Amino acid sequence: MDSLEDTLQRLRDTFRAGRTRPAEFRAAQLKGLSRFLRDNKQLLQEALAEDLHKSPFESEMSEISIGQGEIDKALRNLRAWMKDEKVSKNLATQLDSAFIRKEPFGLVLIIAPWNYPVNLTLVPLVGALAAGNCVVLKPSEISKGTEKVLAEVLPRYLDQSCFAVLLGGPEETGRLLEHRFDYIFFTGSPRVGRIVMTAAAKHLTPVTLELGGKNPCYVDNSCDPQTVANRVAFFRYFNAGQTCVAPDYVLCSPATRERLLPALQRAITRFFGEDPQRSPNLGRIISEKQFGRLQGLLGCGRVAIGGQSDEGDRYIAPTVLVDVKETEPVMQEEIFGPILPIVTVGSLDEAIEFINRREKPLALYAFSSSSRVVRRVLACTSSGGFCGNDGFMHMTLASLPFGGVGASGMGSYHGKFSFDTFSHHRACLLRPPGLEKIYSLRYPPYSPGKLRLLLVAMEDRGCSCTLL
Ligand code: NAD
Repeated sequence: MDSLEDTLQRLRDTFRAGRTRPAEFRAAQLKGLSRFLRDNKQLLQEALAEDLHKSPFESEMSEISIGQGEIDKALRNLRAWMKDEKVSKNLATQLDSAFIRKEPFGLVLIIAPWNYPVNLTLVPLVGALAAGNCVVLKPSEISKGTEKVLAEVLPRYLDQSCFAVLLGGPEETGRLLEHRFDYIFFTGSPRVGRIVMTAAAKHLTPVTLELGGKNPCYVDNSCDPQTVANRVAFFRYFNAGQTCVAPDYVLCSPATRERLLPALQRAITRFFGEDPQRSPNLGRIISEKQFGRLQGLLGCGRVAIGGQSDEGDRYIAPTVLVDVKETEPVMQEEIFGPILPIVTVGSLDEAIEFINRREKPLALYAFSSSSRVVRRVLACTSSGGFCGNDGFMHMTLASLPFGGVGASGMGSYHGKFSFDTFSHHRACLLRPPGLEKIYSLRYPPYSPGKLRLLLVAMEDRGCSCTLL
């Protein structure tokens, strides 16, 4: 077996030889990825069930079909995305050709988490390969079933001179990060995000950090409680709450809370039956460590719905907590499980103030029958993404960038944003070799007349019109 150094050198050599640059090569890798998903759908679904008790429905909807959609989009648009982008010129550059070239960075490292272990490895991988990079993929060691498929099966579908899967936990990833990469794309917790960024800084390697946080969900008094309850419960309990963009807590008035509680109970029973533990549609907590952490959070405030747990089955019932204090752990850390606290506020202004005195979240949700209220929450807050009157539907659109801001991350991807993330935007200007008479205007000896002329010639007219 190759040593880590040998593997990285092999990938660097491939990149330097220019092998990954042609559109045909990139398309062949994307088609390989597509075949991987098609041929191994069953295997992946079994692995996701083993790791997270993920139902085939959730696996298909949130992992496999999203990966496939990204591949199809990249294949359809690859040549257009790769094209040099012409830019507007000023008078001084009228005879030149000015454009942005999207060139691959080189050797890219993708580090993925366990909660959507197919989606969050393959979707960045699509962008990195489409952009013509060589890639080291480091899946999560926690989602073991999926890690095995990605390590053993995926490489058979890709050119191994430009792609490798490397395995390991914190220690091995720490060692990997000592090496120089040309780009690092990390999805995971803010704590590890800091470790990754510190390691990247040593080599001045650019990073995308897709992190987490607490996503507020404001519910206005004007809403239909059952509609809101259905939508909040669906997105909160999807994948047993282990979703970075899940609504983390509800902010509403005491009166709305009273209307929401029975509606949430009805939604939970409708989705998962009288005994959610027996439902094939409810996921399980990924590990004993996470289970222990979540069980601790059940002690915050007062349990209004659910609250049951079974360690042997890593089961936590869909739960709603009330009367939680802002200082309690459930309101201090990202919940990342099937627990929904409801925090009461006196007004919309108070809700906005509550949101704004915390870290900027990855997603923010506002429910109201008045579009003015939804737009007010949008205008007065900041977050990676925003959705009015629903859960994380905004991230299902590849035409929207997906990423955080502030503590929830930096950079974005999905669709063309992925291609652009994994491409260096090189500023290019090609000047004809002659016409020295015209260009010598700028040389010393300087004069006020030359200065006037040059300032006019270099003015940005903001149009791409050409004189000739
Ligand atoms: P994590 O940060 O513990 O691990 C992520 C990756 O980093 C794994 O591959 C892991 O092996 C590696 N890692 C762990 N410790 C490390 C260390 N000390 N040094 C180097 N590498 C290390 O995250 P997780 O528990 O796998 O995932 C949950 C977190 O990810 C949550 O905070 C969630 O919000 C976030 N997340 C964000 C997004 C997003 O798109 N923004 C998506 C999913 C999950």
